[in-house]
Amino acid sequence: MPTPAAGSQPADHASDSSCDQAASSDHTALAARRDLAVRAAVAEGLLTAEHPVAALLDVATVRERARALRAAFEEVAAPGQRVLHTFAAKAAALVPVLRLLAAEGLGCEAASPGELALARAAGVAPSRTVLDSPAKTTAELREALALGVVVNVDNPQELARLDGLLTDTMTSSPLGVRVNPQLGAGAIDAMSTATATSKFGVGLRDPGAREWLVQAYVDRPWLTALHTHTGSQGVPLSLMAAGVRELYTLAEEVNAAAGRRQVTVLDLGGGLPVDFSRDEPSPDFGDYARLLAAEVPGLFSGAYALTTEFGRALLARAGLVLTRVEYTKETGGRPIAVTHAGVQVAARTVFAPEAWPLRVRAYDQQGAPKAGEPVAQDLAGPACFAGDLTARDRKLPLLHPGDHAALLDTGAYYATNHFAYNSLPRPGIYGYRADPATGTTRFATLRRPQSLAEIVAEGGGAYGTGLTDL
Ligand SMILES: *Cc1c(COP(=O)(O)O)cnc(C)c1O
Repeated sequence: MPTPAAGSQPADHASDSSCDQAASSDHTALAARRDLAVRAAVAEGLLTAEHPVAALLDVATVRERARALRAAFEEVAAPGQRVLHTFAAKAAALVPVLRLLAAEGLGCEAASPGELALARAAGVAPSRTVLDSPAKTTAELREALALGVVVNVDNPQELARLDGLLTDTMTSSPLGVRVNPQLGAGAIDAMSTATATSKFGVGLRDPGAREWLVQAYVDRPWLTALHTHTGSQGVPLSLMAAGVRELYTLAEEVNAAAGRRQVTVLDLGGGLPVDFSRDEPSPDFGDYARLLAAEVPGLFSGAYALTTEFGRALLARAGLVLTRVEYTKETGGRPIAVTHAGVQVAARTVFAPEAWPLRVRAYDQQGAPKAGEPVAQDLAGPACFAGDLTARDRKLPLLHPGDHAALLDTGAYYATNHFAYNSLPRPGIYGYRADPATGTTRFATLRRPQSLAEIVAEGGGAYGTGLTDL
């Protein structure tokens, strides 16, 4: 599995010719657009003295990934079979992103009231919005039912709450239960949702759970969907497919017990991993769809409508975090580049560097790819703790003050998953359309950088005398 393994060292340069020989033109084009956009971002002053770090998102890559997903399932689906691909909003919680994906035919998976609000702001239709919040309040459930969004229930207590709400509420919401096939973990424990004791869903292998679940469906004709999500990054495709097989088998069992085709929708979750060591998407959506077709042929018989909820595999490759190098120094024989991209934009990589290595690409003062002998160096972030490193002992052309560094494949779960340590501001996020043929790049603001005034407001600025007056 080409998921990040302990100690794996990502290649430093995406567009090194050695990497690109095997790449299809798509991925070479991605690298060319990326370099063009970095140059333009520097030339246009997207990085400023006040905001020396920014995130960039390639519109063409987002569209390409969405099309790849749709094409992969169209290839194996039965004629006329309904497949709803939703984007897991937590991977890139930005209204313009949700809107772009909606334009590419995708819906939205929301897991909190905030994400649901973003989906609504992006104009995603309720029938194309799936609500998976693990801790839905009554108010949240009521709103979801009123809107008619798809709701996946997490546990028996939530189902009982839904029973109560449905006695006085009419809804068009398709309703289902999330199940945990309890098949075991992938390479990253924190990302594995199908372990025996995972906090998500109804554990299918727990004593009596399966019988309870089948009866719960038989007793509630309005439960028409089943949901599972076997995990994210680090979960092998074979485990994901095994989880889907469990889901399918359970649906058939419920329908047999009900004596009719009560369950009509299977939600397969997301979780396709991203290979953070290179540009080519591998495994890709097509590999997964073909594996599902081989392992769970009934899935594509046309008897069920399908839903997917991918996040990382749709957005990761489209994004990068670009930072200016502020200082460079050498400590204990190790060159260190002090940058402005650290834990605030790359929390996972900083806290769990073995599980989440990122490629770094070095650019010069003008934003042109930097040449020079690779030298092992550390890339440090701006936060006040020693572990705030985005790369360690990484071979790159030696960085100098005023140069730039880009953290690649950070379009999902990075700059949009800000960590507010040290009151470091949320950086601006800019979408780009880069055309290597003409050398032009256009930018659109997706989120402006957070100002110091906003940081003070977030830090209780309006309540300055709250404690002294108490
Ligand atoms: C996070 C999550 C996803 C998306 O996972 P990716 O690994 O980003 O594809 C999908 N469904 C649920 C329920 C999730 O929690």
